[in-house]
Amino acid sequence: MSDNLHNLYYYANVCHVCKTFGKELPLKRCSSCRMISYCGKVHQKQHWPQHKDLCKVLSDMLDQTNSTCIFGKCQNPCTKLWAKKKSNLMLLVQLKLGRRLEHYEEEMFKFPRVCSTCHDGQSAALKDCKFCPSANFCPLHKTDQIRHTSQCKALRLCFDLDIAGTLFERKSPRHVVPFHKEMAYLPRSIKDFILLYVNENKSLPMSSECQLLYNSEYLTRPLTVLYAIERLKFKIESAINIHVIGANMVEVDGLDIWEILLHWLPSLTTLTIVLIGPELMWGSVKPNVCNYCISKGMWVHIELRNMLYQDYVTSQWYEKPDFLIGYNMGIHECLELGSVKDTWTPCIKTLAEQNCPLVLTSYTLSEAIEEHKKLRIILGDTVTDLCCEINPFSSLRPHRDFETEGVFYQNQFITIYHDLCPASIFNDLKLTQ
Ligand SMILES: [Zn+2]
Ligand SMILES: [Zn+2]
Ligand SMILES: [Zn+2]
Ligand SMILES: [Zn+2]
Ligand SMILES: [Zn+2]
Repeated sequence: MSDNLHNLYYYANVCHVCKTFGKELPLKRCSSCRMISYCGKVHQKQHWPQHKDLCKVLSDMLDQTNSTCIFGKCQNPCTKLWAKKKSNLMLLVQLKLGRRLEHYEEEMFKFPRVCSTCHDGQSAALKDCKFCPSANFCPLHKTDQIRHTSQCKALRLCFDLDIAGTLFERKSPRHVVPFHKEMAYLPRSIKDFILLYVNENKSLPMSSECQLLYNSEYLTRPLTVLYAIERLKFKIESAINIHVIGANMVEVDGLDIWEILLHWLPSLTTLTIVLIGPELMWGSVKPNVCNYCISKGMWVHIELRNMLYQDYVTSQWYEKPDFLIGYNMGIHECLELGSVKDTWTPCIKTLAEQNCPLVLTSYTLSEAIEEHKKLRIILGDTVTDLCCEINPFSSLRPHRDFETEGVFYQNQFITIYHDLCPASIFNDLKLTQ
């Protein structure tokens, strides 16, 4: 693996440098911190300049506690408490280190080499899962491998996809979506859509399964919008302005894919997507469209605004949206509504003022329910969703989830609102404010 690509991600049971996994050769763990593995001296030496400052902090901590595992003796099978412990340790190490942890260094804490059941990392006799590089079992829990089978395939896929993603250049998929003259219904699922309309790039040596999963990661965004439009029976005119709220850099990857809307929606000729979020960069993009789109004068215009939604709405760049979508925004994570630091309440009130459909996606059903509750607390009990369910157009690519110890998928659940605040109620609100 060339350059520093090996530092893009970390898995407990692979050589950190060449990502060798599953071969018969036993990996050697860094003898000071015991948190990172290599296939041999050569790769350990190669990584040492990047690892040494963190290693020093970790081995000092181990010396102080006279322990062989940074997580100490505490064996906490409770997933929630275990996640909290990992987060706290990450913060502590970051403080001692005097810098932010790199992404792969965070993963050393999020996905450490510990028993999958009791989280014991001290046992010298931990057995590695042979199929995925993300599970280990202590002598007490070696029979739990059977229970792990259900997660094992997804965890292995995470690894294969990370490898494929660093070896091959990722591009938004080339699609062959025909121009629809009449409003058409979507296929049943994102998988069906890909099989029907996406041209697999045969020249890539990536397995067709990996390609399909990668493609779904791009397609989930426009297809979730199309699905919501279908569910809402939303009438599309010749132009539509979609605000993507709480957007981040993940959503900036593969903007070309939005052209699908021009092909799918019969009357649409001008598509404006405004991505708004404080983590974004600033700018505008005019993605490439096909020759037919060019000949018909159809175009996609994308704007990136790095600001909070409530600030965007009062800025000179604001244009009224026809449709709002927030991908995995994590509204459920805001605990103290109404506190000084709470930026969600003004954001959600501003969303309601837009008087147009709103779509929210989330990783789990409980998150979706929690977010719906938050909206009702902020806006009142009149807020009613059209649906809150599994999204048939969620991504199919699994990501490791350190909080649940399983995997998550982008946009797995979808909540659709016709309007957060029907006009009459909105007027009443204004009067009472
Ligand atoms: Zn190696
Ligand atoms: Zn080390
Ligand atoms: Zn155990
Ligand atoms: Zn496994
Ligand atoms: Zn086109």
